[in-house]
Amino acid sequence: MKELTCIVCPRGCRLTIDDNLNVTGNFCPRGAEYAKNELTNPKRMITSFMRVKNRENCVVSVKTSVAIPKGMIFQVMEEINHVGVDAPTRIGDIAIKDVLGTGADIVITKNIK
Ligand code: SF4
Repeated sequence: MKELTCIVCPRGCRLTIDDNLNVTGNFCPRGAEYAKNELTNPKRMITSFMRVKNRENCVVSVKTSVAIPKGMIFQVMEEINHVGVDAPTRIGDIAIKDVLGTGADIVITKNIK
């Protein structure tokens, strides 16, 4: 039996999940799915910054297009830190396609001229 707080929406339901993946405390089905994923294959979105190679002391904000396995976070962060982008950048540009085979793209979230 494990207790956790659903982070899918601001309501923050307190969930309980047992070894057979039976979930209680969820107001909606998304909470049950969240709890089951947390126990079997936890994932997280990443937001970070990438170096802009052709600008001095400049970074651009980025995020993953979808959540990635929690165990891959440090490797993906290293890849983000290692790879740079060139300006100009536009919101929605893909900086890294399918980063480390996770199925997630690293997407730029700021315009830089
Ligand atoms: S269970 Fe549903 S209503 Fe409750 S926090 Fe999760 S998403 Fe929101």
